[in-house]
Amino acid sequence: MAEYNAPLEEMKFTLFDVIGMDEVLLLDHYRDASKDIVDAIMEEGSKFTHEILSPLNRVGDIEGTVFKNKSVTMPKGFKEAYAQYVENGWNSVTSSPEYGGMGLPVMLGVCLMEMVDSANMAYSLCPILSCGAVDAIEAHGTLDQKSTYMEKLVSGQWAGTMNLTESQAGSDVGALTTKAELQKDGTYRIKGQKIFITYGDHDMSENIIHLVLARLPDAPSGTRGISLFIVPKFLINEDGSLGKRNDAYPVSVEHKMGIMASPTCVMVFGDADDCTGYLLHEEGRGMQAMFTFMNNARLNIGVQGVACAQRAYQMADEYAHERVQGRAIGYEGQEKHTISEHADVRRMLLTMKSQTQAARSIAYLTAKYIDLARHHPDAKSREDYKALADLLTPMAKGYTTDIGTEVASLAMQVFGGAGYIEETGIAQIYRDSRINQIYEGTNGIQAMDLAGRKISLRGGKDWKYLLGEMKEFCDDLPDKGDFSLMKRQFSKIIETTMSCSVWAYENQTENLRSVMAGSVAYLRLFSTSVGAYLLIKGAKAADKKLKKDHGNNIFYKEQIDIAYFYAQQIIPQVLGFEEIIKAGDDALYRDV
Ligand SMILES: Cc1cc2nc3c(=O)[nH]c(=O)nc-3n(C[C@H](O)[C@H](O)[C@H](O)COP(=O)(O)OP(=O)(O)OC[C@H]3O[C@@H](n4cnc5c(N)ncnc54)[C@H](O)[C@@H]3O)c2cc1C
Repeated sequence: MAEYNAPLEEMKFTLFDVIGMDEVLLLDHYRDASKDIVDAIMEEGSKFTHEILSPLNRVGDIEGTVFKNKSVTMPKGFKEAYAQYVENGWNSVTSSPEYGGMGLPVMLGVCLMEMVDSANMAYSLCPILSCGAVDAIEAHGTLDQKSTYMEKLVSGQWAGTMNLTESQAGSDVGALTTKAELQKDGTYRIKGQKIFITYGDHDMSENIIHLVLARLPDAPSGTRGISLFIVPKFLINEDGSLGKRNDAYPVSVEHKMGIMASPTCVMVFGDADDCTGYLLHEEGRGMQAMFTFMNNARLNIGVQGVACAQRAYQMADEYAHERVQGRAIGYEGQEKHTISEHADVRRMLLTMKSQTQAARSIAYLTAKYIDLARHHPDAKSREDYKALADLLTPMAKGYTTDIGTEVASLAMQVFGGAGYIEETGIAQIYRDSRINQIYEGTNGIQAMDLAGRKISLRGGKDWKYLLGEMKEFCDDLPDKGDFSLMKRQFSKIIETTMSCSVWAYENQTENLRSVMAGSVAYLRLFSTSVGAYLLIKGAKAADKKLKKDHGNNIFYKEQIDIAYFYAQQIIPQVLGFEEIIKAGDDALYRDV
């Protein structure tokens, strides 16, 4: 399998020409950043992921992790690659300079994470989780906790984990039973078992900081009674050095379908009644702190979807241009053609490419809103951008990860039988990608979050704003040439999304189950609208460049072709979702 090469031209075009990263770089908070710095870091990221992480992808898949004597050993090369990752500062790109980070925009962080994910998804989960722990401790930790943990988590010297799931408490986090009891010295004794804990143990970092949800003895049931605790693998001495081994151990590692190099651990806390935890935030407000962790992680998992799609597309496109099979219809002569000339293969490749780019654009737009929500000078604007980021997050996780697996599946189809054989590498992408639709809140839960919560917040102001912006852009599109079809199709999908949003909004209280019944269709419809918006924006930017001074530039021409294909072939696939959404739960409960 060829090593991963980051699609830098596409990434930069999406960042600057479609999403408008300039606006973020103009923020005072990012005054030391510039387009040149962003470009240079992306070039370096591309090199690192190509040379160091990508060659370990298949090694990790074949070797997997080894669990022995209550500890996990990573596959060959991972520890060394992680050391280089930390040394080069890749772990700390977006973190605050106060803790040794580079303080660069989340937009850039997401872009780099896409490279890491595409090169080696199983590896990427370790830094993703550390980033989540950094966000949670920075937002909710005491000064003392920040000085103990932040710098080492930011650098990557220590890694982080997220411990929610128990066997009876998956999507229903409120059902968890892990206990925490206050001790005389102000620490807590933690006791319980967590399952499916990603990077619960490994040998890449010198310490692991587990963030563990647990319940105090007199806590109310449900999510209101949950608190969050910092549980280090090694306790930390007064002088910051590593102390006693904490009673927090992996007891097994799961055998999985994919991401073989990511150790998914069953963790036991307090088997010897000696597990020490430190309260993060306030008692009973653990879910609030965990949401800070998860919001970051949700976008990053969405980016894993984009990354799987990108890698799968790259490989399929290359293969399709090499594999000769039959004569393509519509060509003269007897000569045989590469499969890229067959209509159905072209359909698959364009479906893959356009949806990958739509998914990437949605993820980058969410990151832009996060940057603006954090650092816009005006408080009211910060609030509005935060609401937009919150609205987009279920799409940036749900749509992108659905696309990741769908594109990987199409890539396998393009490869034919060879795709089903492990050596080509497509099967690994498909296997790896599938988990993205499940963890960090299943895509069903994302859809419910969008249709049952996000659209009802602030009187529906945010989706109305976003759809309004899209409509204004659509009305301004020229009604000629390729743009004529794009305008017509885009207008249809905006109208349909608006109508379904109004329906879902109006049925929130009286008819919520019906809204939920159509929520997955609604998420797909809304995401496809936003995807169309961003692709057509790209087509318009490309058209302008072509007219100005890039007459024959293939890349810009391609941007128009992709948006045209998406408008003609993808939009109609979801317009019929209106009927599904508005049908509600009628067909789902007939026997009840
Ligand atoms: C490889 C891997 C790594 C993981 N890493 C971590 C980790 O690091 N930390 C961690 O805490 N967890 C982790 N998880 C757990 C993961 O987040 C959960 O598996 C996921 O949230 C789903 O929970 P569940 O498996 O219990 O499924 P369930 O909650 O039982 O869900 C099963 C099905 O029912 C649906 N469903 C459930 N409740 C509802 C509802 N109210 N309404 C509608 N549909 C519903 C779901 O959408 C799903 O389709 C990991 C899991 C795996 C497999």
